[in-house]
Amino acid sequence: MTTATSAFDVARIREDFPVLQQMVNGKPLVYLDNAATSQKPQSVIDTLVHYYTSDNSNVHRGVHTLSQRATEDYDAARSTARQFLNAASDQEIIFVKGTTDGINLVAHSYGRQHLGPGDEIIISTMEHHSNIIPWQVLCQEKGAHLRVIPINDAGELLIDEYERLLTPRTKLVSITHVSNVLGTINPIEQIVEMAHSRGVPVLVDGAQAAPHMAVDVQKLGCDFYVFSGHKVCGPTGIGVLYGKSDLLEAMPPYQLGSEMIKSVTFERTIYNDLPYKFEPGTPHIAGAIGLGAAISYISDIGMDRIFAYESELLRYGTERLSAIGGLTLIGTAAKKGSVLSFVMDGVHPHDIGTILDAEGIAIRTGHHCAQPLMDRFGVPATARASLAFYNTKEEIDVLVKGIDRVIEVFS
Ligand SMILES: *Cc1c(COP(=O)(O)O)cnc(C)c1O
Repeated sequence: MTTATSAFDVARIREDFPVLQQMVNGKPLVYLDNAATSQKPQSVIDTLVHYYTSDNSNVHRGVHTLSQRATEDYDAARSTARQFLNAASDQEIIFVKGTTDGINLVAHSYGRQHLGPGDEIIISTMEHHSNIIPWQVLCQEKGAHLRVIPINDAGELLIDEYERLLTPRTKLVSITHVSNVLGTINPIEQIVEMAHSRGVPVLVDGAQAAPHMAVDVQKLGCDFYVFSGHKVCGPTGIGVLYGKSDLLEAMPPYQLGSEMIKSVTFERTIYNDLPYKFEPGTPHIAGAIGLGAAISYISDIGMDRIFAYESELLRYGTERLSAIGGLTLIGTAAKKGSVLSFVMDGVHPHDIGTILDAEGIAIRTGHHCAQPLMDRFGVPATARASLAFYNTKEEIDVLVKGIDRVIEVFS
């Protein structure tokens, strides 16, 4: 048993990640692009190989042994995801392709059903394009309007402005838990409470929260919560949409076909029960089972310990980067996850990324799928170092040396 206070053996943890044990451009890889995707521990890789080596079969249709094994493991992964989010039942866990797919599901199903002309959806300035465009297009289709919560210069939501935006026209609030660019941790409980007091449901984009902190959907009170498997050390192409069962029950299916039906005649189809109503076609079975293994892996380390360790890394990284002349951190919220976005005087972020890559350091540069947020800060792009629990202070030192090299090249 590990506890929140027991020593965090990062050297031991790093041994679980084969990809980290390599040289890139002649230097040991320093992987600081975790907000784009996280690396996979051996246990997840082994689970995928085992599935395809021993159990590969379709789920829910077969009486044969392999199909039963695959079905059992697929269902077990759903239970693991349910525990991870502390959802009330497995029925509330829908396997989707990822965060983008989960938001599209809610926009197409719940959104189409509930939105009419003149209605409003509230999002925020710091949303990822995946939590903007589905709502924008839905609003255009329905003659409805997007309302956007502004933020301050630190990258924190202006809650008074949010209060003002909540009106009888508001039909949904869709907001990120943690910003992928700024790292801001939003006060979801408060946001949900304010929306619910007016009867408005809330969707939370958890893509950057689920990998880094304990998430309890019942405590948050949100109606929908989405995250991506590939950002929590799991495979790509799989993610989770949590929805409260009464909402999901009342929603029409998003995509139609096999698996999501009870009976079909040419006159009429009766849809399947939750969660299968929202999982048409053969699902990403290996992905779901791999995601289960990933959730088990990070849960065994402990989400509270991961958060505490990453907070210390963030504190150290913030201190070191702040001390560099000509470098400005974008995103300085009081409550912040492990993301360090920055710009440098006279250097385009793309050049920062290229020079760091030559040093074996992987960061992301660009607009991070959040162009309206870039506009808010008046920059075309940022450089972003995003940390995970397998990163170290030594790696932040390497990053700082790399940035010194950037300054050297451009001076
Ligand atoms: C990555 C990300 C998404 C999109 O996730 P996909 O896995 O690409 O679907 C959405 N929102 C946030 C905040 C993200 O970081």
